[in-house]
Amino acid sequence: MNTVTQNFNFYQGHDPHELVKEFGSPLYVYNERILRERCRDMRNLSSYPKFVANYAVKTNSNLSLLRIIREEGLRTDISSEGEAVAALAAGFLPEEMLFILNGVSAAELAFAAKIGATVSVDSLSQLETLGKVNLGGRIFLRFNSGVGGGHHEKVVTGGDGTKFGIMPDYIAEVKKLLNKYDLKLIGVNQHVGSYVSDKLYLEGVSAILSLAKQFEDLEYIDFGGGFVVPYHKQNGEKPIELNKIRERLDTLLFDFAKDYGKELTFMIEPGRYIVAECAVLLGTVHSLKNCGTKKYAGTDLGFSVFKRPTVYDAHHDIELYPAAHGGEGRRVHPSEPSTSVSKPEAVSVPLEKINIVGNQCETGDFITRDRELPPLCEGDILGVLDAGAYGYSMACQYNHRARPAEILIGRDSSVKLIRRRDTYEDMLVNMKGL
Ligand SMILES: *Cc1c(COP(=O)(O)O)cnc(C)c1O
Repeated sequence: MNTVTQNFNFYQGHDPHELVKEFGSPLYVYNERILRERCRDMRNLSSYPKFVANYAVKTNSNLSLLRIIREEGLRTDISSEGEAVAALAAGFLPEEMLFILNGVSAAELAFAAKIGATVSVDSLSQLETLGKVNLGGRIFLRFNSGVGGGHHEKVVTGGDGTKFGIMPDYIAEVKKLLNKYDLKLIGVNQHVGSYVSDKLYLEGVSAILSLAKQFEDLEYIDFGGGFVVPYHKQNGEKPIELNKIRERLDTLLFDFAKDYGKELTFMIEPGRYIVAECAVLLGTVHSLKNCGTKKYAGTDLGFSVFKRPTVYDAHHDIELYPAAHGGEGRRVHPSEPSTSVSKPEAVSVPLEKINIVGNQCETGDFITRDRELPPLCEGDILGVLDAGAYGYSMACQYNHRARPAEILIGRDSSVKLIRRRDTYEDMLVNMKGL
């Protein structure tokens, strides 16, 4: 039976062991073909003629990936000044940026307005601040239409009591402030959460559309991101059915535009969907031990490299690329060397439940708990699948560990270094001579 990466032809002939030998472990490996496919999925999510996908840059801001995403015709959803600097460096124009900000300084709002990007704020107080720095400007407002959801309480960004969006009760006050600062409201946006069901997403679309009717002369309505990616492929999870979403979305959009009497531009803000599946994070098993009833594999995949399991209890499928010669190190249990496997049922060796942990001084530093895998050896390489979204972008230098390199497997199967590993020198530079 094929592994997930074989099914996708992810490595396009390259061997994970060789890649790690050349670029070091851990290592983020991206696949250009898959990235482009996902961009097209989102660009074509509606057949409405003025339909735009703004890539959420926070999800992964590698410049090489951003350039590809721009080539595919996406624009950007920007959540900080730093992200804008990255997007500009990748070639995005300010008019291809929608800043979606909350709780930022007047200086950051002024920066966005000054470079000529459009800004969305999500509170009366930020609206007032924006009015002062961008008198007479064209702006968006982020509303909380009351719909919210997501895969973890930490990613729910709409609905009662979340920190995001203006509640519709404040629309009268919003209109007063727009008048006071001569601001033109050209768009409304929302983001109900990350990893939301199709049903909830479409509920959100309906809710913001009905809210939008309270404003005349809008040019844009933006429905946010949050599209699901199948993180459980080894268990047969299928991708979301884009055709179904497209059908429902088309009906809603064409009907709304007809009612509103104007051909608006509709936007979405996908992040995870674009980049999650185009990456595998490779790491190395360095130690094995039993502790009470638990087995542990110690790896270089600490949370400074990959935080999602620690922060969100996120599940990621793991593929095993066994060390050559059955491993030079110890096994927890003796067993025959196996071929590259990801689907546990596919191998004849007995599986065992193991915790894959990182090398950091924190108990919460894990990649999986009690995952069934064939017995591991020192020197094995593990592949954390679907690691492209909120992977490198959340990496840090805790324990003074250098963040890993990133490489891209091109459509022609060439391998290109797209970010060097940090050096310890880099990590001292801002303190040198102080
Ligand atoms: C994070 C975020 C997104 C992207 O969310 P995904 O779940 O990665 O698609 C879109 N819009 C806003 C405002 C966000 O904060």
